[in-house]
Amino acid sequence: MIRANDNYQKLQASYLFSDIAQRVALFQKNNPDTRIIRLGIGDVTRGLPPAVIKAFHEGVDEMADDATFRGYGPEQGYAFLREKIAAHDYQARGADISADEIFVSDGAKCDTGNFQELFAKDIKIAIPDPVYPVYLDTNVMAGRTGVFENGRYQNIVYMDCLRKNDFLPEMPKEPVDLIYLCFPNNPTGTCATKSELAAWVDYARQNQALILFDAAYEAFIRDDSLPKTIYEIDGAHEVAVEFRSFSKTAGFTGTRCGFTVVPKTCSVFTGEGEKISVHALWNRRQSTKFNGVSYPVQKAAEAVYSREGQAQVKELVSSYLQNADIICRTVEDLGYDYAGGKNSPYIWVDGQGRDSWEFFDLLLNQASVVCTPGGGFGRCGNAYIRISAFNSRKNVELAMKSIKEALK
Ligand SMILES: *Cc1c(COP(=O)(O)O)cnc(C)c1O
Repeated sequence: MIRANDNYQKLQASYLFSDIAQRVALFQKNNPDTRIIRLGIGDVTRGLPPAVIKAFHEGVDEMADDATFRGYGPEQGYAFLREKIAAHDYQARGADISADEIFVSDGAKCDTGNFQELFAKDIKIAIPDPVYPVYLDTNVMAGRTGVFENGRYQNIVYMDCLRKNDFLPEMPKEPVDLIYLCFPNNPTGTCATKSELAAWVDYARQNQALILFDAAYEAFIRDDSLPKTIYEIDGAHEVAVEFRSFSKTAGFTGTRCGFTVVPKTCSVFTGEGEKISVHALWNRRQSTKFNGVSYPVQKAAEAVYSREGQAQVKELVSSYLQNADIICRTVEDLGYDYAGGKNSPYIWVDGQGRDSWEFFDLLLNQASVVCTPGGGFGRCGNAYIRISAFNSRKNVELAMKSIKEALK
């Protein structure tokens, strides 16, 4: 008899986006002439930059010709892309990361989800609440949690992110082995300063722990005092793996390309306390289970680092940041407490005593605006909604106008 992986039965069916879709569909049915504006999903809306598209086309043309055709590429990614990433994203910021420490992939979702495979089943894991659900669910699937009770899985150390700690994860009071961090954060939009990240690096070094650092929104950091990579922190290259993506940076959500940085100096330990290289383990994992990202897509990603590409990507991200600013000003004028929206495309708004679904329904029914109820990201999100800046300027302005009227 073919048995199922019982751990999948522990997963909480995520009704979040289907629930939202149902409520939106019902509202549209009852109000057929109303135009709904969606500031809910975490997906970009603008087209790929011209420099990226040009390189993408050239890559496709090369595949058509026997002389320039490429078959299987290196599982770790082409050197032309890994070298650009190392030079622009790391060495230029004083972070000592080399091209062979970079693993190109089809996105940060897969990598943040797959990375836990390298660790023992009985390690202690710390995960923020609220959180991007991938970190939690992939550990549930792997059997690292107990059952779900009172909105939480047993055997997970949850790090509350609330107003009282400026929405930064609370450091665990018990020793943990693996720590998931994400800055700029999805969903709260908060960023960590260098000293805040340094405290995590110290914690990891003292506890022989490893940090999995998700920097998918790094491109939204415009404040030069904020770290863009965890490797700007001394000692991080011994205790941190960093995930990046071209999705939110350059509009690659449908094109698929990202990368993971695994410094050669990061270690895990055997039962006998012997050190093993995390880089060697991830390299083995990728070579066995992954066959690389398509050549035209890697050419397209490389073009992000060209002079035109850099300028175009900067303009793209700036347009979303300006939307975020418009949203922040509206929320502020209305007297609502919020986090994020600066150096981030997400605004995390306190419902003033409303439950997150109640606030969601209010904005849908009174303003025809779709947001995301914070409860979908964890128990600590129950009193919040997330508003996303990923839409056109015109739609954001229209949405803010109707939110103002609905909430004043
Ligand atoms: C969007 C997002 C990613 C990127 O996912 P891709 O698979 O690269 O598209 C990673 N982490 C977080 C927190 C995100 O919101």
